[in-house]
Amino acid sequence: MIRIAVVSGKGGTGKTVVTAALADIIPGSIVLADCDVDAANLSLVIPHETKSSRPYFGMQCAEIDTETCTGCGACRAHCRFDAIEETEKGGLKVNPLLCEGCGVCDLICPEGAVTMKPRMAGEIFASSTSRGPLSHARLFPGAGTSGLLVQEVKQAALSSAGDMPLMLIDGPPGIGCPAVATLSGMDAAIIVTEPSISAVHDLRRLVQLCRGFQIRLFLVINRADLEPEMTASIREYCAGEDILVLGTIPFDPAVLSAVRAGKPVTADSSPAAMALREIRDALYAALGVPE
Ligand code: SF4
Ligand code: SF4
Repeated sequence: MIRIAVVSGKGGTGKTVVTAALADIIPGSIVLADCDVDAANLSLVIPHETKSSRPYFGMQCAEIDTETCTGCGACRAHCRFDAIEETEKGGLKVNPLLCEGCGVCDLICPEGAVTMKPRMAGEIFASSTSRGPLSHARLFPGAGTSGLLVQEVKQAALSSAGDMPLMLIDGPPGIGCPAVATLSGMDAAIIVTEPSISAVHDLRRLVQLCRGFQIRLFLVINRADLEPEMTASIREYCAGEDILVLGTIPFDPAVLSAVRAGKPVTADSSPAAMALREIRDALYAALGVPE
């Protein structure tokens, strides 16, 4: 199986639009995963049916038993996250939004009054699409461990893949923990960028990160016609870095219309859709996959 992650240095470059379009026009069945768990939206542009869901438990949360607690304050003094607060009655309680689940209070409490409890941090969904299974998730607001959730979404996708030849992941933007978890185990990454100062800055950081995984790197430049000079300098940068530019996508109002309608842009014929078909062909040629 070829595993490809579509990623971006910053949000808003069109990564999910590219993922949904490739999923729509790649021949044969594929397994899909939305690993942008902090802002999962691949399922908004790929018609799907959710078959099942299960809870995701992230880090634990401390809980103080007020009956056993003597109020010595040792846990509060040692909590590096200031998660232990006074109650109105003068006792102590854990603020779940601040607790990082480190377990120090549990270790230090002389009375055994602290218990580490599992905390539901989101949901993982198994859905079906016309192209194959889709694994996606919803992280609750304020919940951490998004890197761990990415691993679980990927694992769920792999379990549903059977003998499918291709796995396509909508990855997260940036270079943080979810990006690291997404890129691990991939064969290739398609970086989606745009000709803007911030996108080019973040592109360089993402390329640095990808180099650590020794995977093949491809690039797509979205809205390339809006800043032709910057697009040319991105191409120059890619040539120096030995990154294959699969193609460019022009600014096209049809993209917005497709997103609003909840479908891949390639469902209709438009300049962006045509560009994405060429990008698909360039990807297949680069991977040596017969069309
Ligand atoms: S360390 Fe234990 S006994 Fe002391 S305040 Fe904290 S929970 Fe209560
Ligand atoms: S588990 Fe760690 S972060 Fe949470 S309340 Fe205890 S010491 Fe603080």
